[in-house]
Amino acid sequence: MNDRADQLMSLLDAFGLEGGAQSIIGGTLTAGNGDPIVVTDPYTTYELYRYADCGAPIAEAACRAAAAAQPDWARGRSPADRGALMTEIARTVTDHAEPLAQLEALTAGKPIRDCRVEVAKVAEMFAYYAGWADKLHGEVIPVPSGHLNYTLREPLGVVFQTTPWNAPIFTAGWQIAPALATGNAVVIKPSELTPLTTIALVRLAEKAGLPPGTVNVLAGLGPTAGQAAIAHPAVRKVIFVGSPPTGRRVAVAAAEALKPSVLELGGKSANIVFSDASLDDACRGAQAAIFSAAGQSCVAGSRLLVQADIYDHFTTMVADGMARLTLGDPLDEATEVGPVGNVRQYEHVTTTVRMACHAGASVLARDDKPQTGYFVPPTLIGPVDNAAPVAREEIFGPVVAAIPFKDEADAVRLANDSDFGLAGAVWTRDVARAHRVASVVRAGTFWINSYKTIHVSSPFGGSLSSGFGRSSGTDALFEYTAPKSVWVETATPSRLAFGYAPPA
Ligand code: NAD
Repeated sequence: MNDRADQLMSLLDAFGLEGGAQSIIGGTLTAGNGDPIVVTDPYTTYELYRYADCGAPIAEAACRAAAAAQPDWARGRSPADRGALMTEIARTVTDHAEPLAQLEALTAGKPIRDCRVEVAKVAEMFAYYAGWADKLHGEVIPVPSGHLNYTLREPLGVVFQTTPWNAPIFTAGWQIAPALATGNAVVIKPSELTPLTTIALVRLAEKAGLPPGTVNVLAGLGPTAGQAAIAHPAVRKVIFVGSPPTGRRVAVAAAEALKPSVLELGGKSANIVFSDASLDDACRGAQAAIFSAAGQSCVAGSRLLVQADIYDHFTTMVADGMARLTLGDPLDEATEVGPVGNVRQYEHVTTTVRMACHAGASVLARDDKPQTGYFVPPTLIGPVDNAAPVAREEIFGPVVAAIPFKDEADAVRLANDSDFGLAGAVWTRDVARAHRVASVVRAGTFWINSYKTIHVSSPFGGSLSSGFGRSSGTDALFEYTAPKSVWVETATPSRLAFGYAPPA
């Protein structure tokens, strides 16, 4: 066993997960018996651990466990008690923040400094939605008939959530917290490449008092476990975070079962730099937008739109900045850019850059990188035509396509000439222009003189190939509930003059 596998074992011990990646069904760790899944350390490329796919039978058991637990979670305690328990979960996550961050850094290959921030955000998500548990209520509607008409906001029942490998614990907390606050039970399937921090998170939540079965975790594959959960009759809604092609398969499967879905998919976000911007700030922002998390972020600023008169100067600044980034072991405190998360993604990113080179693109890549691991050196391709594949497809690596533009109208046209609609940014000192651009660029999230800031209190989501529906903020409360309209007859005698009439 190599050192990192040893390190993994001791981290798992701290969470009572000596058995490795197992599903949690009704509060019980359950080993799979399907095909083997081998997980590789992105930094060493050695095997880190392996486990068996949970498959369809365990997924169905998870849905049954959630259906059994949900009524008590929704109605067996007061909303305030539900909130208090979620506050306790937030506290427990904070108490275990460091081992959780280390487990994430080791298994997802993300720099430890980023993992610490994401784990802190998970605690914040539970704390935020804890506060909502007893504040979501219906309305009284002044209907014209004189009935008393009121609405109840009811939980959906069991929801099925699927998350990707690039931000495993963050996306787990992001979806589990609003679902719980609103009285739902959850079946969650993290990526088969990064299931451990989601399992650890749910173990901690149970330790904090979450009743068994309220959140169930599937350690397994999408086509087997994921599809079985989508089809299970107990599941009332499907929430998917991942790539557009898989999102399409998931939405089709949900639609066939007449279930609604939320899709949080990829992006090709435009980061627009005007020549009147503070170029130092814009350069820092451009680097954070694409090189942090090694570009493996749905909101990555992967299209850098630069006004033509500063294009050469600004792209040289970005290229100089690339040389100063610290690449290295995700567990090293100094590391700013880690490896790409897995071999499939590494091959996708490197092939895309190679093809751009063959097509004659001007590619500027940093010339050094660690000798081990799935490292892609920070890379700037440009000037690029917005029709080129590197400007149209999500690369999901530390690779930015730089595109010159003439003026504001040209910048907006280029930004919106994309199949995606997730995020974007503008850098300018002209306040009026900043708001004009923010109002017309198609994006669910848009930054002015900033990039990548998000918060659980603010809505998040996209359109077109970036998906539909919203997560975070009060919007997530509505995604996880349905209104019921209740009508009370107030007339005496009743106005119901149909069929049965009481004896005079
Ligand atoms: P992916 O689509 O390959 O996998 C996502 C999840 O879907 C995994 O859990 C996987 O096991 C599951 N899955 C795979 N095939 C399935 C099937 N046939 N049926 C049901 N489930 C199936 O995505 P990925 O490579 O893990 O993640 C990267 C993608 O996620 C990028 O496109 C990124 O932009 C996107 N992402 C989006 C957001 C957002 O909020 N918009 C956030 C993070 C990541």
